[in-house]
Amino acid sequence: MTNGKEYYELIVVGAGPAGLTAGLFGARSGLKTLVLDRGICGGLTNEATLIDNYPGFRRIGGMELVEKIKAQTADYAEIKELEGVETIEPAEHAETMRIVTEKGAYRTRAIILATGTKKQKLGVKGEAEFLGRGVSYCATCDGFFFKNKAVIVVGGGDSAARGALYLQNIGAEVSLIHRREELRAEQYLQTSLKKAGIRIYWNSVVKEIRGENVVRSVLRYDKARDKEEEVPVDGVFIYIGEEPANTLAQQLHITLDATGYISTDRGQRTSRAGIYAAGDVTGGVRQIVVACAEGAVAASSAHDDLVG
Ligand code: NAP
Repeated sequence: MTNGKEYYELIVVGAGPAGLTAGLFGARSGLKTLVLDRGICGGLTNEATLIDNYPGFRRIGGMELVEKIKAQTADYAEIKELEGVETIEPAEHAETMRIVTEKGAYRTRAIILATGTKKQKLGVKGEAEFLGRGVSYCATCDGFFFKNKAVIVVGGGDSAARGALYLQNIGAEVSLIHRREELRAEQYLQTSLKKAGIRIYWNSVVKEIRGENVVRSVLRYDKARDKEEEVPVDGVFIYIGEEPANTLAQQLHITLDATGYISTDRGQRTSRAGIYAAGDVTGGVRQIVVACAEGAVAASSAHDDLVG
């Protein structure tokens, strides 16, 4: 437990690729740096089974990449996992800001928000009721339980396509449901879906998830035909995008864009002096390489603003 007097020149909130890289660059520039995360390091990257567009690694698992970045950061910065930040008290008249966590409090002069995104919910009947009993948002975490079972993946982006391919690969019988007649997933993923023979329900939405105790089916609404059909499935994997984890930014009245992502300048500075943002919480191109780059830029700006 800290008493609120412990001082760091830079505190990074969130230890995904953006936050860890910010910690690495901040500490290497000479700032006494702490990286905090409410969970374990990695964020959503831990759920990526295979990353094949991070330069330098032809193919690498998400957890493996996180372990490597974490180890490199830990050589220079302090990292505290399982310590969520509850509030940030701005430095109105004081020299330093105060960060209050689940376990204590710290003082700092610069903060980088790298809080990432959270999964979107479908908002249909049965989604909350069957969570963990057939409804999942992570194929790598729960897919194993669906070997030789029928699952439906909801969504048309990269995550849905990758989730569907992962589930098919572990032996599930996979279909995908998308609300339009065209996927937004990268072209090569679309080709892989076709090759894998994954059935796609086009122009369709899940209206309800049904079952007793565990999931038994989804009610599919075919928008083009204006028809409903019950599709028997054991699992529903929902990948319909993400929303920014912007609670701390909102608390601080930091400027957000129209969709809730934190607005920054080219140096990753937010609208509040001394607070920077990096990674998925800033929107834009949501790729690990971009998150890392933004983390590095944010830390460099913090260093320049503090040290000059
Ligand atoms: P995304 O690209 O935002 O795709 C979300 C999908 O869900 C879209 O197809 C969307 O349909 C659909 N959708 C949204 N709301 C829905 C609703 N209420 N009901 C039914 N369908 C709904 O999200 P993502 O796939 O999670 O990807 C997020 C970001 O991470 C993207 O920038 C992506 O490129 C990146 N990413 C990259 C990789 C990679 O391998 N490089 C892997 C994962 C994620 P519409 O198409 O009609 O909008």
